[in-house]
Amino acid sequence: PYTGPDYERTSSIRKAMLSPAILTYYSKPLLIHQGHMQWLFDERGRRYLDLFGGIVTVSVGHCHPKAVRALEEQAHKLWHTTNIYLHPKIHEYAEKLVAKLPGDLKVVYFVNSGSEANDLAMLMARMYTGRYDVVSLRGAFHGASPYLMGLTAISTWRYQSPTGFGVHQTANPDPFAGPWGGANCRDSPVQTVRSCGCTDGQCHASDMYLDQLDDVLKYSIPKAGLAAFFAESIQGVNGTVQFPKTFLKRAYELVRGKGGLCIADEVQTGFGRTGDHYWGFQGHNVQPDIVTMAKGMGNGFPLAAVVTTPQIAATMGTALHFNTFGGNPMSCAVGSAVLDIIEEENCQSLARDIGGYLLGELAKLRDEFEIVGDVRGKGLMIGIEMVKDKTSRKPLPIGDVNSIWEHCKDMGVLLGKGGLYSNVYRIKPPMCITRSDADFTIAVLKKAIRDHLEKK
Ligand code: PMP
Repeated sequence: PYTGPDYERTSSIRKAMLSPAILTYYSKPLLIHQGHMQWLFDERGRRYLDLFGGIVTVSVGHCHPKAVRALEEQAHKLWHTTNIYLHPKIHEYAEKLVAKLPGDLKVVYFVNSGSEANDLAMLMARMYTGRYDVVSLRGAFHGASPYLMGLTAISTWRYQSPTGFGVHQTANPDPFAGPWGGANCRDSPVQTVRSCGCTDGQCHASDMYLDQLDDVLKYSIPKAGLAAFFAESIQGVNGTVQFPKTFLKRAYELVRGKGGLCIADEVQTGFGRTGDHYWGFQGHNVQPDIVTMAKGMGNGFPLAAVVTTPQIAATMGTALHFNTFGGNPMSCAVGSAVLDIIEEENCQSLARDIGGYLLGELAKLRDEFEIVGDVRGKGLMIGIEMVKDKTSRKPLPIGDVNSIWEHCKDMGVLLGKGGLYSNVYRIKPPMCITRSDADFTIAVLKKAIRDHLEKK
Protein backbone atom coordinates (compact mmCIF):
# COMPACT_ATOMS: atom_id res chain seq x y z
CA PRO A 1 0.00 0.00 0.00
CA TYR A 2 0.96 3.61 -0.58
CA THR A 3 2.67 5.36 2.32
CA GLY A 4 3.37 9.09 2.43
CA PRO A 5 4.73 11.21 5.29
CA ASP A 6 4.28 9.94 8.85
CA TYR A 7 0.99 11.32 10.22
CA GLU A 8 1.78 10.98 13.94
CA ARG A 9 5.18 12.63 13.67
CA THR A 10 3.90 15.51 11.54
CA SER A 11 0.99 16.10 13.84
CA SER A 12 3.09 16.05 17.01
CA ILE A 13 5.50 18.63 15.53
CA ARG A 14 2.55 20.87 14.65
CA LYS A 15 1.18 20.59 18.19
CA ALA A 16 4.51 21.21 19.89
CA MET A 17 6.19 23.71 17.61
CA LEU A 18 3.66 25.69 15.62
CA SER A 19 1.44 28.45 16.94
CA PRO A 20 -1.49 27.11 18.96
CA ALA A 21 -3.60 29.83 17.31
CA ILE A 22 -3.02 28.47 13.83
CA LEU A 23 -6.32 27.86 12.02
CA THR A 24 -6.73 24.10 11.75
CA TYR A 25 -9.59 22.33 10.00
CA TYR A 26 -11.22 19.09 11.22
CA SER A 27 -11.08 17.28 14.57
CA LYS A 28 -8.33 15.09 13.12
CA PRO A 29 -6.56 17.49 10.75
CA LEU A 30 -5.77 16.18 7.28
CA LEU A 31 -2.17 15.73 6.24
CA ILE A 32 -2.09 16.94 2.66
CA HIS A 33 1.13 16.40 0.79
CA GLN A 34 0.25 16.51 -2.86
CA GLY A 35 -2.16 18.32 -5.11
CA HIS A 36 -3.16 18.11 -8.73
CA MET A 37 -5.69 20.54 -10.22
CA GLN A 38 -8.90 20.25 -8.13
CA TRP A 39 -7.58 17.31 -6.13
CA LEU A 40 -5.62 16.96 -2.90
CA PHE A 41 -4.02 13.77 -1.59
CA ASP A 42 -3.32 12.69 1.98
CA GLU A 43 -0.53 10.51 3.35
CA ARG A 44 -2.51 7.36 2.55
CA GLY A 45 -2.95 8.44 -1.05
CA ARG A 46 -6.62 9.22 -0.46
CA ARG A 47 -8.04 11.79 -2.86
CA TYR A 48 -10.21 14.76 -1.88
CA LEU A 49 -12.13 17.20 -4.06
CA ASP A 50 -10.81 20.57 -2.91
CA LEU A 51 -13.71 23.01 -2.87
CA PHE A 52 -11.90 25.63 -0.82
CA GLY A 53 -8.61 25.91 -2.72
CA GLY A 54 -6.57 26.94 0.32
CA ILE A 55 -9.08 29.72 1.10
CA VAL A 56 -9.82 30.79 -2.46
CA THR A 57 -6.15 30.86 -3.33
CA VAL A 58 -5.65 28.07 -5.83
CA SER A 59 -7.31 29.70 -8.80
CA VAL A 60 -6.40 27.55 -11.80
CA GLY A 61 -5.56 24.24 -10.13
CA HIS A 62 -3.00 22.77 -7.76
CA CYS A 63 0.39 22.43 -9.47
CA HIS A 64 -1.11 23.44 -12.80
CA PRO A 65 1.46 22.14 -15.34
CA LYS A 66 1.81 25.47 -17.16
CA ALA A 67 2.39 27.37 -13.89
CA VAL A 68 4.89 24.72 -12.78
CA ARG A 69 6.74 25.07 -16.11
CA ALA A 70 6.86 28.87 -15.78
CA LEU A 71 8.28 28.55 -12.28
CA GLU A 72 10.82 25.95 -13.35
CA GLU A 73 12.03 27.98 -16.31
CA GLN A 74 12.42 31.10 -14.19
CA ALA A 75 14.16 29.15 -11.42
CA HIS A 76 17.05 28.46 -13.80
CA LYS A 77 17.41 32.10 -14.80
CA LEU A 78 17.00 34.43 -11.83
CA TRP A 79 15.31 34.25 -8.43
CA HIS A 80 15.93 37.57 -6.93
CA THR A 81 17.59 40.97 -7.06
CA THR A 82 14.86 43.20 -5.57
CA ASN A 83 13.53 45.86 -7.88
CA ILE A 84 16.57 48.09 -7.68
CA TYR A 85 17.31 46.81 -11.22
CA LEU A 86 15.07 46.31 -14.20
CA HIS A 87 14.12 42.72 -14.95
CA PRO A 88 11.92 41.59 -17.81
CA LYS A 89 9.49 39.45 -15.84
CA ILE A 90 8.10 42.22 -13.65
CA HIS A 91 7.60 44.52 -16.63
CA GLU A 92 6.04 41.86 -18.82
CA TYR A 93 3.71 40.89 -16.00
CA ALA A 94 2.80 44.46 -14.98
CA GLU A 95 1.82 45.24 -18.55
CA LYS A 96 -0.37 42.14 -18.80
CA LEU A 97 -1.99 42.71 -15.41
CA VAL A 98 -2.93 46.36 -15.85
CA ALA A 99 -4.46 45.47 -19.23
CA LYS A 100 -7.03 43.53 -17.21
CA LEU A 101 -8.13 46.58 -15.22
CA PRO A 102 -10.69 49.11 -16.43
CA GLY A 103 -10.29 52.89 -16.77
CA ASP A 104 -7.29 54.66 -15.38
CA LEU A 105 -6.18 51.88 -13.02
CA LYS A 106 -2.76 51.58 -14.60
CA VAL A 107 -0.03 51.68 -11.96
CA VAL A 108 0.87 48.53 -10.09
CA TYR A 109 2.79 47.92 -6.85
CA PHE A 110 3.75 44.33 -6.22
CA VAL A 111 3.76 42.94 -2.67
CA ASN A 112 3.49 39.47 -1.18
CA SER A 113 0.17 39.14 0.65
CA GLY A 114 -3.30 40.57 0.83
CA SER A 115 -2.50 42.22 4.16
CA GLU A 116 0.50 44.02 2.70
CA ALA A 117 -1.61 45.14 -0.24
CA ASN A 118 -4.35 46.60 1.97
CA ASP A 119 -1.81 48.24 4.28
CA LEU A 120 -0.24 49.92 1.27
CA ALA A 121 -3.62 50.92 -0.16
CA MET A 122 -4.51 52.58 3.15
CA LEU A 123 -1.22 54.46 3.20
CA MET A 124 -1.72 55.53 -0.40
CA ALA A 125 -5.20 56.88 0.29
CA ARG A 126 -3.91 58.81 3.29
CA MET A 127 -1.00 60.26 1.34
CA TYR A 128 -3.19 61.24 -1.59
CA THR A 129 -6.06 62.80 0.34
CA GLY A 130 -4.01 64.21 3.19
CA ARG A 131 -6.71 62.84 5.47
CA TYR A 132 -6.69 60.00 7.91
CA ASP A 133 -10.06 58.40 8.58
CA VAL A 134 -11.18 55.24 6.80
CA VAL A 135 -14.41 53.25 6.85
CA SER A 136 -14.96 49.52 6.39
CA LEU A 137 -17.97 47.24 6.55
CA ARG A 138 -18.72 45.06 9.53
CA GLY A 139 -17.90 41.45 8.81
CA ALA A 140 -15.08 42.46 6.46
CA PHE A 141 -11.75 40.69 6.47
CA HIS A 142 -8.98 42.85 5.06
CA GLY A 143 -5.93 41.40 6.84
CA ALA A 144 -4.36 40.90 10.20
CA SER A 145 -1.59 43.47 10.51
CA PRO A 146 -1.98 45.91 13.43
CA TYR A 147 -3.44 48.56 11.09
CA LEU A 148 -5.75 46.18 9.32
CA MET A 149 -7.09 44.51 12.42
CA GLY A 150 -9.12 47.68 12.86
CA LEU A 151 -10.53 47.39 9.35
CA THR A 152 -11.15 43.66 9.75
CA ALA A 153 -14.46 43.77 11.53
CA ILE A 154 -15.09 40.18 12.48
CA SER A 155 -14.39 39.58 16.13
CA THR A 156 -13.12 36.00 15.81
CA TRP A 157 -10.05 37.40 14.07
CA ARG A 158 -9.38 40.33 16.38
CA TYR A 159 -7.00 40.42 19.30
CA GLN A 160 -7.42 42.54 22.37
CA SER A 161 -4.75 44.98 21.37
CA PRO A 162 -4.76 48.52 20.03
CA THR A 163 -5.39 48.65 16.29
CA GLY A 164 -4.75 51.51 13.90
CA PHE A 165 -6.82 54.52 14.91
CA GLY A 166 -9.02 56.51 12.57
CA VAL A 167 -10.88 53.40 11.45
CA HIS A 168 -14.69 53.32 11.52
CA GLN A 169 -17.11 50.59 10.62
CA THR A 170 -20.60 50.62 9.28
CA ALA A 171 -23.27 47.90 9.04
CA ASN A 172 -22.58 45.35 6.34
CA PRO A 173 -25.59 44.89 4.10
CA ASP A 174 -26.35 41.23 4.72
CA PRO A 175 -29.78 40.55 3.22
CA PHE A 176 -30.11 37.18 4.94
CA ALA A 177 -28.81 37.59 8.49
CA GLY A 178 -28.68 41.37 8.84
CA PRO A 179 -31.38 43.54 10.40
CA TRP A 180 -32.78 44.57 7.01
CA GLY A 181 -33.43 42.51 3.94
CA GLY A 182 -34.69 38.99 3.65
CA ALA A 183 -38.43 38.80 4.01
CA ASN A 184 -38.67 42.58 4.43
CA CYS A 185 -36.66 43.49 1.39
CA ARG A 186 -38.37 43.94 -1.95
CA ASP A 187 -35.40 44.04 -4.29
CA SER A 188 -33.18 41.25 -5.47
CA PRO A 189 -29.59 41.44 -4.34
CA VAL A 190 -26.92 40.78 -6.94
CA GLN A 191 -26.89 37.11 -6.10
CA THR A 192 -27.71 34.46 -8.63
CA VAL A 193 -29.95 32.53 -6.28
CA ARG A 194 -32.04 34.99 -4.37
CA SER A 195 -32.28 34.72 -0.63
CA CYS A 196 -34.25 37.86 -0.18
CA GLY A 197 -37.58 37.62 -1.93
CA CYS A 198 -37.57 41.13 -3.38
CA THR A 199 -39.36 41.56 -6.66
CA ASP A 200 -39.98 45.17 -7.56
CA GLY A 201 -36.46 46.41 -8.26
CA GLN A 202 -36.58 48.85 -5.34
CA CYS A 203 -34.23 47.84 -2.57
CA HIS A 204 -35.42 49.12 0.76
CA ALA A 205 -32.77 47.21 2.66
CA SER A 206 -30.12 49.02 0.65
CA ASP A 207 -31.57 52.36 1.78
CA MET A 208 -31.38 51.34 5.43
CA TYR A 209 -27.76 50.21 5.18
CA LEU A 210 -26.83 53.35 3.26
CA ASP A 211 -28.41 55.44 6.02
CA GLN A 212 -26.06 53.72 8.45
CA LEU A 213 -23.07 54.63 6.30
CA ASP A 214 -24.37 58.17 5.98
CA ASP A 215 -24.59 58.41 9.78
CA VAL A 216 -21.02 57.20 10.21
CA LEU A 217 -19.87 59.79 7.69
CA LYS A 218 -21.86 62.53 9.41
CA TYR A 219 -21.11 61.73 13.04
CA SER A 220 -17.72 60.03 13.13
CA ILE A 221 -15.70 61.54 10.31
CA PRO A 222 -14.01 64.88 10.98
CA LYS A 223 -15.15 67.87 8.92
CA ALA A 224 -11.93 67.69 6.90
CA GLY A 225 -13.30 64.52 5.32
CA LEU A 226 -12.48 60.92 4.68
CA ALA A 227 -9.38 59.20 3.32
CA ALA A 228 -10.96 55.97 2.09
CA PHE A 229 -13.70 53.38 2.11
CA PHE A 230 -12.72 49.70 1.86
CA ALA A 231 -15.09 46.99 0.69
CA GLU A 232 -14.92 43.51 -0.75
CA SER A 233 -17.28 42.84 -3.68
CA ILE A 234 -18.66 39.80 -1.86
CA GLN A 235 -17.55 39.30 1.74
CA GLY A 236 -15.47 36.14 1.79
CA VAL A 237 -14.42 35.26 5.34
CA ASN A 238 -17.77 36.49 6.61
CA GLY A 239 -19.50 33.69 4.72
CA THR A 240 -20.03 34.87 1.14
CA VAL A 241 -22.19 37.85 2.05
CA GLN A 242 -23.61 39.45 -1.07
CA PHE A 243 -24.76 43.02 -0.93
CA PRO A 244 -28.14 44.17 -2.19
CA LYS A 245 -28.09 45.54 -5.69
CA THR A 246 -27.02 49.20 -5.91
CA PHE A 247 -25.60 49.28 -2.37
CA LEU A 248 -21.97 49.55 -3.39
CA LYS A 249 -22.62 52.04 -6.17
CA ARG A 250 -24.49 54.37 -3.86
CA ALA A 251 -21.98 53.83 -1.05
CA TYR A 252 -19.20 54.95 -3.43
CA GLU A 253 -21.19 58.13 -4.15
CA LEU A 254 -21.58 58.92 -0.44
CA VAL A 255 -17.89 58.26 0.20
CA ARG A 256 -16.77 60.41 -2.72
CA GLY A 257 -19.05 63.14 -1.44
CA LYS A 258 -16.82 63.21 1.66
CA GLY A 259 -13.67 63.29 -0.45
CA GLY A 260 -12.77 59.65 0.23
CA LEU A 261 -11.18 57.19 -2.18
CA CYS A 262 -12.96 53.90 -2.89
CA ILE A 263 -10.82 50.82 -2.42
CA ALA A 264 -11.96 47.46 -3.78
CA ASP A 265 -10.50 44.47 -1.96
CA GLU A 266 -10.46 41.85 -4.73
CA VAL A 267 -8.32 39.40 -2.78
CA GLN A 268 -11.05 36.74 -2.99
CA THR A 269 -13.30 37.96 -5.79
CA GLY A 270 -10.76 38.80 -8.50
CA PHE A 271 -9.40 36.91 -11.51
CA GLY A 272 -12.67 35.72 -12.98
CA ARG A 273 -14.01 33.87 -9.95
CA THR A 274 -17.40 35.58 -9.98
CA GLY A 275 -17.93 34.36 -13.55
CA ASP A 276 -19.71 37.29 -15.14
CA HIS A 277 -16.78 39.62 -14.62
CA TYR A 278 -13.02 39.50 -14.22
CA TRP A 279 -13.22 41.65 -11.08
CA GLY A 280 -16.01 41.42 -8.53
CA PHE A 281 -16.50 45.19 -8.40
CA GLN A 282 -17.54 45.15 -12.07
CA GLY A 283 -20.61 43.21 -10.99
CA HIS A 284 -21.60 46.26 -8.94
CA ASN A 285 -21.01 48.67 -11.79
CA VAL A 286 -18.45 50.75 -9.87
CA GLN A 287 -14.99 52.06 -10.68
CA PRO A 288 -12.67 52.00 -7.65
CA ASP A 289 -9.72 54.32 -7.17
CA ILE A 290 -7.52 51.55 -5.80
CA VAL A 291 -7.79 47.78 -6.20
CA THR A 292 -6.00 45.26 -4.00
CA MET A 293 -5.44 41.65 -5.04
CA ALA A 294 -3.67 38.52 -3.77
CA LYS A 295 -4.55 34.84 -3.22
CA GLY A 296 -5.67 33.50 -6.63
CA MET A 297 -3.30 35.91 -8.34
CA GLY A 298 -0.41 33.51 -7.74
CA ASN A 299 -2.44 30.27 -7.65
CA GLY A 300 -0.86 29.55 -4.26
CA PHE A 301 2.51 31.23 -4.87
CA PRO A 302 3.00 34.32 -2.64
CA LEU A 303 2.06 37.26 -4.81
CA ALA A 304 -0.15 40.31 -4.26
CA ALA A 305 -0.57 43.80 -5.67
CA VAL A 306 -2.13 47.22 -5.41
CA VAL A 307 -3.27 48.86 -8.63
CA THR A 308 -4.19 52.52 -8.79
CA THR A 309 -4.27 55.56 -11.06
CA PRO A 310 -1.12 57.49 -12.06
CA GLN A 311 -2.46 60.51 -10.18
CA ILE A 312 -2.84 58.67 -6.87
CA ALA A 313 0.44 56.81 -7.40
CA ALA A 314 2.26 60.11 -7.85
CA THR A 315 1.81 61.06 -4.19
CA MET A 316 3.70 57.93 -3.15
CA GLY A 317 6.74 59.46 -4.80
CA THR A 318 7.36 61.72 -1.81
CA ALA A 319 9.34 58.95 -0.12
CA LEU A 320 10.98 55.73 -1.26
CA HIS A 321 8.81 52.66 -1.30
CA PHE A 322 10.59 49.37 -0.86
CA ASN A 323 9.52 45.75 -0.56
CA THR A 324 12.25 43.10 -0.65
CA PHE A 325 10.29 40.31 -2.28
CA GLY A 326 7.54 42.34 -3.97
CA GLY A 327 7.61 41.70 -7.72
CA ASN A 328 10.38 39.08 -7.61
CA PRO A 329 11.00 37.26 -10.87
CA MET A 330 9.69 33.92 -9.56
CA SER A 331 6.30 35.20 -8.47
CA CYS A 332 5.95 37.38 -11.58
CA ALA A 333 6.64 34.34 -13.77
CA VAL A 334 3.89 32.42 -11.98
CA GLY A 335 1.47 35.38 -11.98
CA SER A 336 1.97 35.85 -15.69
CA ALA A 337 1.32 32.15 -16.37
CA VAL A 338 -1.83 32.33 -14.22
CA LEU A 339 -3.20 35.19 -16.35
CA ASP A 340 -2.54 33.13 -19.50
CA ILE A 341 -4.17 30.02 -18.05
CA ILE A 342 -7.31 31.94 -17.05
CA GLU A 343 -7.62 33.05 -20.71
CA GLU A 344 -6.59 29.84 -22.43
CA GLU A 345 -8.70 27.56 -20.28
CA ASN A 346 -11.72 29.90 -20.09
CA CYS A 347 -11.67 29.82 -16.30
CA GLN A 348 -13.99 32.80 -16.03
CA SER A 349 -16.75 31.27 -18.14
CA LEU A 350 -16.19 27.95 -16.42
CA ALA A 351 -16.70 29.73 -13.08
CA ARG A 352 -19.91 31.23 -14.44
CA ASP A 353 -21.27 27.99 -15.90
CA ILE A 354 -20.25 25.42 -13.28
CA GLY A 355 -20.88 27.96 -10.52
CA GLY A 356 -24.33 28.73 -11.91
CA TYR A 357 -25.12 25.05 -12.14
CA LEU A 358 -23.91 24.42 -8.58
CA LEU A 359 -25.93 27.36 -7.26
CA GLY A 360 -29.05 26.06 -8.94
CA GLU A 361 -28.60 22.54 -7.58
CA LEU A 362 -27.70 23.78 -4.10
CA ALA A 363 -30.84 25.92 -4.09
CA LYS A 364 -32.79 22.66 -4.31
CA LEU A 365 -31.14 21.55 -1.05
CA ARG A 366 -32.27 24.82 0.48
CA ASP A 367 -35.82 24.02 -0.58
CA GLU A 368 -35.58 20.45 0.72
CA PHE A 369 -33.97 20.97 4.14
CA GLU A 370 -35.14 23.35 6.86
CA ILE A 371 -31.56 23.74 8.14
CA VAL A 372 -30.22 25.00 4.80
CA GLY A 373 -31.18 28.63 5.26
CA ASP A 374 -29.63 30.35 2.29
CA VAL A 375 -27.66 29.56 -0.83
CA ARG A 376 -25.96 32.53 -2.45
CA GLY A 377 -22.99 33.63 -4.46
CA LYS A 378 -21.77 34.30 -7.93
CA GLY A 379 -19.72 32.05 -10.12
CA LEU A 380 -17.44 29.88 -8.02
CA MET A 381 -17.84 31.96 -4.87
CA ILE A 382 -20.70 30.25 -3.07
CA GLY A 383 -22.03 30.25 0.49
CA ILE A 384 -24.51 27.88 2.12
CA GLU A 385 -25.82 29.31 5.37
CA MET A 386 -26.89 26.66 7.86
CA VAL A 387 -29.62 27.64 10.31
CA LYS A 388 -31.73 26.21 13.12
CA ASP A 389 -34.81 26.91 11.02
CA LYS A 390 -35.77 29.18 8.18
CA THR A 391 -38.09 31.32 10.31
CA SER A 392 -35.63 32.37 13.00
CA ARG A 393 -32.56 32.27 10.69
CA LYS A 394 -30.49 31.65 13.86
CA PRO A 395 -27.19 29.88 13.17
CA LEU A 396 -27.19 26.09 13.27
CA PRO A 397 -25.22 25.12 16.43
CA ILE A 398 -21.57 24.59 15.63
CA GLY A 399 -21.64 20.90 16.65
CA ASP A 400 -24.21 20.20 13.94
CA VAL A 401 -22.40 22.36 11.38
CA ASN A 402 -19.19 20.45 12.07
CA SER A 403 -20.77 17.03 11.99
CA ILE A 404 -22.08 17.55 8.43
CA TRP A 405 -18.83 19.19 7.37
CA GLU A 406 -16.65 16.35 8.72
CA HIS A 407 -18.90 13.78 7.09
CA CYS A 408 -18.41 15.54 3.72
CA LYS A 409 -14.66 15.34 4.29
CA ASP A 410 -14.89 11.62 5.07
CA MET A 411 -16.72 11.17 1.77
CA GLY A 412 -13.96 13.06 -0.05
CA VAL A 413 -15.23 16.64 -0.31
CA LEU A 414 -13.46 19.54 1.40
CA LEU A 415 -15.61 22.57 2.12
CA GLY A 416 -14.64 25.86 3.72
CA LYS A 417 -16.49 27.54 6.56
CA GLY A 418 -17.12 31.17 7.34
CA GLY A 419 -19.26 33.77 9.03
CA LEU A 420 -19.21 35.10 12.56
CA TYR A 421 -20.74 31.85 13.83
CA SER A 422 -18.88 29.63 11.36
CA ASN A 423 -22.21 28.36 10.09
CA VAL A 424 -21.72 29.10 6.39
CA TYR A 425 -20.16 26.43 4.18
CA ARG A 426 -17.98 28.04 1.56
CA ILE A 427 -17.39 26.68 -1.93
CA LYS A 428 -14.52 28.45 -3.70
CA PRO A 429 -12.68 25.75 -5.63
CA PRO A 430 -9.93 25.94 -8.23
CA MET A 431 -11.60 27.17 -11.43
CA CYS A 432 -11.11 23.84 -13.18
CA ILE A 433 -13.83 21.77 -11.54
CA THR A 434 -16.16 19.87 -13.81
CA ARG A 435 -19.86 19.28 -13.92
CA SER A 436 -19.35 15.80 -12.54
CA ASP A 437 -17.41 17.30 -9.59
CA ALA A 438 -20.43 19.54 -9.03
CA ASP A 439 -22.77 16.53 -9.12
CA PHE A 440 -20.51 14.65 -6.71
CA THR A 441 -20.55 17.67 -4.37
CA ILE A 442 -24.33 17.85 -4.35
CA ALA A 443 -24.68 14.10 -3.73
CA VAL A 444 -22.18 14.19 -0.86
CA LEU A 445 -23.67 17.24 0.80
CA LYS A 446 -27.17 15.85 0.50
CA LYS A 447 -26.14 12.56 2.05
CA ALA A 448 -24.22 14.29 4.84
CA ILE A 449 -27.25 16.43 5.73
CA ARG A 450 -29.67 13.49 5.53
CA ASP A 451 -27.46 11.22 7.65
CA HIS A 452 -27.07 13.98 10.21
CA LEU A 453 -30.80 14.61 10.49
CA GLU A 454 -31.51 10.88 10.79
CA LYS A 455 -28.98 10.54 13.61
CA LYS A 456 -30.58 13.39 15.57
N1 PMP B 1 -8.53 40.58 2.05
C1 PMP B 1 -9.39 39.55 1.99
C2 PMP B 1 -10.74 39.77 1.37
C3 PMP B 1 -9.04 38.30 2.50
O1 PMP B 1 -9.92 37.30 2.46
C4 PMP B 1 -7.76 38.13 3.07
C5 PMP B 1 -7.31 36.79 3.64
N2 PMP B 1 -8.28 35.90 3.99
C6 PMP B 1 -6.89 39.23 3.10
C7 PMP B 1 -7.31 40.44 2.58
C8 PMP B 1 -5.53 39.11 3.71
O2 PMP B 1 -4.72 38.34 2.86
P1 PMP B 1 -3.38 37.65 3.39
O3 PMP B 1 -3.76 36.50 4.25
O4 PMP B 1 -2.69 37.24 2.11
O5 PMP B 1 -2.60 38.67 4.12
